[in-house]
Amino acid sequence: MTGESADVVVVGGGPAGLFCAAQLPAGLDVLVLERMPGPGAKLLLSGSGQANLTHEGTVGAFLEHYGAKDHGRFLRHAFAALPNDALCRWFTDHGVPIEVREDGKVFPVSRRSQDVLDAVLDACSAHRVRVRTGVRVQSVERAKDGLLVGTGAGAVEGLSVVIATGGASYPQTGSSGDGFRLAAELGHTVVEPRPALTPIEPDPYPFADLAGVTVPGASLTLEREERRVAFEQGDLLFTHRGLSGPVVLHLSRSVLPHDRLRVSFLNPLRADEVDARVVALCAEHGAARLPAVLSPLGLPDRLVRRLLELAALPPDLIGARVTREARRALVAALTALPLEVSRVGGFGVAMATAGGVALGEVDPRTMGSRLVPGLFFAGEVLDIDGDSGGYNLQAAFSTGALAAAGVARYLGSVPSGRS
Ligand SMILES: Cc1cc2nc3c(=O)[nH]c(=O)nc-3n(C[C@H](O)[C@H](O)[C@H](O)COP(=O)(O)OP(=O)(O)OC[C@H]3O[C@@H](n4cnc5c(N)ncnc54)[C@H](O)[C@@H]3O)c2cc1C
Repeated sequence: MTGESADVVVVGGGPAGLFCAAQLPAGLDVLVLERMPGPGAKLLLSGSGQANLTHEGTVGAFLEHYGAKDHGRFLRHAFAALPNDALCRWFTDHGVPIEVREDGKVFPVSRRSQDVLDAVLDACSAHRVRVRTGVRVQSVERAKDGLLVGTGAGAVEGLSVVIATGGASYPQTGSSGDGFRLAAELGHTVVEPRPALTPIEPDPYPFADLAGVTVPGASLTLEREERRVAFEQGDLLFTHRGLSGPVVLHLSRSVLPHDRLRVSFLNPLRADEVDARVVALCAEHGAARLPAVLSPLGLPDRLVRRLLELAALPPDLIGARVTREARRALVAALTALPLEVSRVGGFGVAMATAGGVALGEVDPRTMGSRLVPGLFFAGEVLDIDGDSGGYNLQAAFSTGALAAAGVARYLGSVPSGRS
């Protein structure tokens, strides 16, 4: 590889890097370097192998889904360059029809992430992009006519370089944080990376044997030093070690060890409304045992039995014998069950990385570095993390597309086929 050159070297063959490469003008000599044996390992895992590509909604609504307001605002040019509907059209035009699920999540009709990856790789092939796998980039340095990309197998000179190495979560997919070091060595500030969209582990955790059970539309209130600091609602999933599902993943951005969660399994009903409901059910089914009395609430039977246990109520108690005190304990368990947070999941289980290349040093109109001419960024290596629901892949594709436009403009009149 020593002595090799390309017009554009893209570091990282994930959705951001590959989409960027595919969007670059066809005449340019583009080389993608990917450290793993195959490209797009994380994309293949996404959405449980179904690839939740994006979400429905306006660009304005999208900007609310990236944590701090200025992070969403940073993406407005990227989403203008490639909004969700244009992304869906792109895939449909490239042989991957798209459908919107009832909850607003957008998937390929085939529900196969492999189809998504293949479409992007085919578009790369059509533009004669060279995708080289098994090559780990170790350094990027300024050179006389551009940038020098160092790998174990020698160096490649690029007029322009796009760092699209992803974050640091699920390191077995290849994204283990290399891009943060590469950017820092070029003088960029890197906001401390931390796991995002991650399960929460309470201690004690009384639901391990309910692993796999989902409670639709639950709510979580996050408390710190007796003060409410965040609130989320959505589907809650019990796992062997802790809580997961969209409501937990969204909240995880705000959670610290020793925080307290209050879980309502009957959101959006208020405690007084649940109390009234329980009074009515006990009156109606006075001779029945509590699990049967409460079954019209629609919660899984095993969860009801566990909540009765936590409220110190015997499961053979009949409706007619439920005292006011017992009812109070039951309603508290149903609508405000306290759980102490022991830890949030680490990079090994997080679906995204918060932190990354500081946005102030990247031009949001081009994804170009404000510090190093010819250097661009795309995807999760940036200090951007979206909510679950398709927001991260959309950001990867949109920043990839915008970086391609930025690189094309930067290269301007550079002749093609330099190598
Ligand atoms: C289990 C899981 C499920 C997910 N599901 C969804 C979902 O359904 N919808 C959604 O929107 N988001 C989802 N995400 C998040 C989404 O997959 C990522 O945000 C997205 O893949 C980021 O794209 P990227 O191209 O920036 O980075 P990545 O996909 O991480 O790709 C970066 C690439 O760079 C390569 N690389 C890294 N360092 C080097 C180096 N030094 N040299 C060469 N190559 C290098 C890596 O091997 C990797 O292939 C999920 C994440 C996980 C972990």
